[in-house]
Amino acid sequence: MADRGRVPLDTDVQWIHGAPSPRRRHDPPLQVHQLAPGTVLIRQSKDLTYEAPFILLLLGAERALLLDTGAVDGTALRRTVDRLLDRHAATPAGDTAYALVVAHTHGHGDHVAGDAAFVDRPHTTVVGHDVAAVRAYFGFTGWPAEVVTFDLGDRVLEVFGIPGHHAASVAVFDPSTGLLHTGDTVYPGRIHVEDSDALLATLDRLVAFCDERDVTHVLGCHVEMTDRPGRDYALGARYQPDEPSPFMTTTQLRQVRDAFRAVAHRPGIHRFDDVVFCIGGGPRVVVPLQARALVARARWLVGRSR
Ligand SMILES: [Zn+2]
Repeated sequence: MADRGRVPLDTDVQWIHGAPSPRRRHDPPLQVHQLAPGTVLIRQSKDLTYEAPFILLLLGAERALLLDTGAVDGTALRRTVDRLLDRHAATPAGDTAYALVVAHTHGHGDHVAGDAAFVDRPHTTVVGHDVAAVRAYFGFTGWPAEVVTFDLGDRVLEVFGIPGHHAASVAVFDPSTGLLHTGDTVYPGRIHVEDSDALLATLDRLVAFCDERDVTHVLGCHVEMTDRPGRDYALGARYQPDEPSPFMTTTQLRQVRDAFRAVAHRPGIHRFDDVVFCIGGGPRVVVPLQARALVARARWLVGRSR
């Protein structure tokens, strides 16, 4: 498929990645980067939350979609989003009733913690984050496989369910840029698997979706890998100087799918070049992660994290 009218994404950005010790923290609470006109990617600071999630804002002619509200109180995010929407709505097509929809890649705490800052915002809908709320809001009749459209006004997104990490996970595809956002389902980091069978089916559907659409970038909400294949930062890391890009290719997505097929029903930690699967929540997963986290935390506190 030709990239007819495709808007290129500017992914060449150095993301804030925390500080080597508590005394050397200087990142802003949020980093705001315009990937393309009307496509904004925001990262929360590792100084505030080790999760340092990415938050996506897509602005159309009639309304905007904010995907996630982060891992901490949303006051700073609300101010940032207000400013971005004011600026967008002040352009010729703008109007004062420009609407905002706050939805979520999935319902885990590090993606919904800022919701309260948006509930009283005028012209704003905050979508719930369980399966029933997500199905009802987006109008799914065939969850999760159905691909539904969501129109921002001259910008029609595609949304479908991708359970496995979380029951209410959704993928959002923007045909205008080729960006496919998968939340915590596929990203360079530790992919926690809640339901292996659901994730197997989800990864097959993501790969099939990329075969049918012109997907240029696969995005997730975190980065936890280092730039060395198969090597992740410790859980809870506050300093990640050698992060890979949060953007992955469809080839990497396919490799992630193939890798998961090989280990899907073996609880534990499974390392691959681009991702680490953490299957199940038992001691085989929790104990090594927590032990390593403790050591890394101690080193960070004395300024020796690297
Ligand atoms: Zn997360």
